[in-house]
Amino acid sequence: MDGPSGVGKSTVSRKVADRLGLSYLDTGATYRAATLAVVQAGIDIGAEDAILSELAEHDIDYAESGIMLDGGPVAVAVRSDEVTRNVSALSAHPRVRTVIVDMQRRWVQDQGGAAVVEGRDIGTVVFSDAPVKIYLTASPLVRARRRAGDAEAQGRTVEEIAAAIEARDHADSTRTASPLRPADDATVIDTSELSIEEVVESIISIVEGRST
Ligand code: C5P
Repeated sequence: MDGPSGVGKSTVSRKVADRLGLSYLDTGATYRAATLAVVQAGIDIGAEDAILSELAEHDIDYAESGIMLDGGPVAVAVRSDEVTRNVSALSAHPRVRTVIVDMQRRWVQDQGGAAVVEGRDIGTVVFSDAPVKIYLTASPLVRARRRAGDAEAQGRTVEEIAAAIEARDHADSTRTASPLRPADDATVIDTSELSIEEVVESIISIVEGRST
């Protein structure tokens, strides 16, 4: 499951995973945990070698309860403004991506090789042979309105949120390493006018259509 910020990937992915009895991996959270470790260590987000050395000292894992850094839960800390501002710069480093993608692939292997995995490059790179690929889109304004309802957005206007989302989309889709884009064989769903349940239902019918 891929798509830009604020499109509803996490909510939809969790529900689809529940319906299918599969594990769910939020790969954005793994980049965020790496960013948290790097920011806490005071490392320049542009310094790829220093980031790689720092990450070698840390353990990033994804548990039922959410993202973990060195064995402790960091689900709240990884949504801080500081992490959100820096995560696209960290995730643009190709060698940093290799380390994090390896971790994501191992994680899915540990789940028996089947999971709902959400991110930006899952269908194009991380699991390019996935049996079902979904790319969610929605207009920037709709996405900003959705984000405005999140706890982390409190106190910010929809316009401010829209500007931050567009900046992150731009960085994520114009980077050289694994840019955000739909895989050629992905089903693109525009969620602007759809409820969460409608999106979930259409994904379930794609999965079921495939297995019958
Ligand atoms: O999904 P979320 O907004 O938490 O992702 C945070 C950031 O992590 C994205 O803006 C992107 O820079 C990076 N990311 C990525 N590849 C993924 C998932 C997230 O580069 N598969």
